[in-house]
Amino acid sequence: MSHAKIDILRPGFLFSLKISFPWIILKMINMRGTLQQLSSKSLHRPLRSCIGCGIKTDKRALLRLVLSPKGHLMFDPRQNQPGRGAYICKRPACLQEAISHRRFPRVFHSSIAQTDYSTLLEQFVDARLQSIRHIRPSLRLALITQLLEDHFGRPPWQGCENPLDTLILTVLSQNTNDRNRDQAFARLRQRYPQWQQVLEAETADIAEAIRPAGLANQKSVRIRDILHWVHLTYGTFNLDFLCREDPEKVKQTFLQRNRH
Ligand SMILES: [Zn+2]
Repeated sequence: MSHAKIDILRPGFLFSLKISFPWIILKMINMRGTLQQLSSKSLHRPLRSCIGCGIKTDKRALLRLVLSPKGHLMFDPRQNQPGRGAYICKRPACLQEAISHRRFPRVFHSSIAQTDYSTLLEQFVDARLQSIRHIRPSLRLALITQLLEDHFGRPPWQGCENPLDTLILTVLSQNTNDRNRDQAFARLRQRYPQWQQVLEAETADIAEAIRPAGLANQKSVRIRDILHWVHLTYGTFNLDFLCREDPEKVKQTFLQRNRH
């Protein structure tokens, strides 16, 4: 305590402040640089640019292409072939962009045979599938969906079917396959042809009817809750009119129900 007082009162104290603040800041900048170096080394995330769209990202998120010893352009799924490599996103548009803008000859300083391009386009789906195992699970589903849509196109919306049936089928489908779900639904409808009857039934009896779908005790309670809410909200079990309403508005109404 007494030492600190003496230091502050020392004639050279203000001068020492001027020296030491910039020094501390310099030290901190230096430390930050060292930390960045350390983290980039330990994480080991080399970045590469897509030759289609130019976006720079972790090279493991991209596909690598090399020239074979015979001069053919090919995918390098393990990213370990020697020589110069070109990187590309997993989007077909980026491959098309790279081909049409003649980026490969520029990267490899070599002409590329037209047949190589055809082969690349054919192998593109395979190359993307092979790369999935290196992708973190949370991104895998998005990539698989993208692959399916690229290959088969977006499935057209089949139109609105009986909304309440669809909702109950969705509850039944939780954690089981379509066959068990359909069997459970058929048994439920056979036992209770009217939704009003399900609403008035004991949950144990509903559970017995939907047993093939599994989780019958939880699902029976949920189904009866939903029927109760539907009847209270709309005054009917016929929800066909919802098909003509704004999907977003309907979605919000049902999500709100879920929050209560
Ligand atoms: Zn790209």
